Amino acid sequence: MLPLPISANRPVKERIAWAELCFQESGDLLLGDQKIADLLAEFNLAVKFSRQKMDRSGVVALCRECDREEGGSCCGIGLEEKYDAWLLLINKLLGVGLPRKRQQKDGCFFLGENGCLLKARHVICINYACTKITTNVQPSVIKDLREVEGQEITSLFMLNEQVKRVFRKWIKQQETA
Ligand code: SF4
Ligand code: SF4
Repeated sequence: MLPLPISANRPVKERIAWAELCFQESGDLLLGDQKIADLLAEFNLAVKFSRQKMDRSGVVALCRECDREEGGSCCGIGLEEKYDAWLLLINKLLGVGLPRKRQQKDGCFFLGENGCLLKARHVICINYACTKITTNVQPSVIKDLREVEGQEITSLFMLNEQVKRVFRKWIKQQETA
């Protein structure tokens, strides 16, 4: 029995519980949908390129330095509110273990000891660049980075739409059964 979709306004722990339950109840069915399987593969590839580009551009090193030496991560408390339950369900489909509790007092609920715990991230998390980044990384490199991040965002959007489409179809079938 699939649970009905949950509002994005519910507390993060409830959204996580919903994603866990949906994954438990329908994970195999969702992963068995060919279009979802193809989009997951495409998204994984897009994330890989995007992370490689971030690493080569020097952004990863700048963020690490900021986090470890300057105490200034931009992953602050409250940013978890950007994540609706669908995006959390997609993370489950990607094999991500969702946290049960906040790990850093003033940090985002999804911030782990070594950075973000999620694979499918909100657009705001994908392409945020503070002034430390924009002043230390060449504009042409940032432009390149934006292009691969654009592929990650597009791929995630399509995945999100397909998961919702399949899920809603099943809910309808459940209601008419
Ligand atoms: S984007 Fe800026 S504020 Fe955020 S971790 Fe990187 S350097 Fe720090
Ligand atoms: S990148 Fe991850 S940890 Fe940082 S704000 Fe976004 S979801 Fe939270």
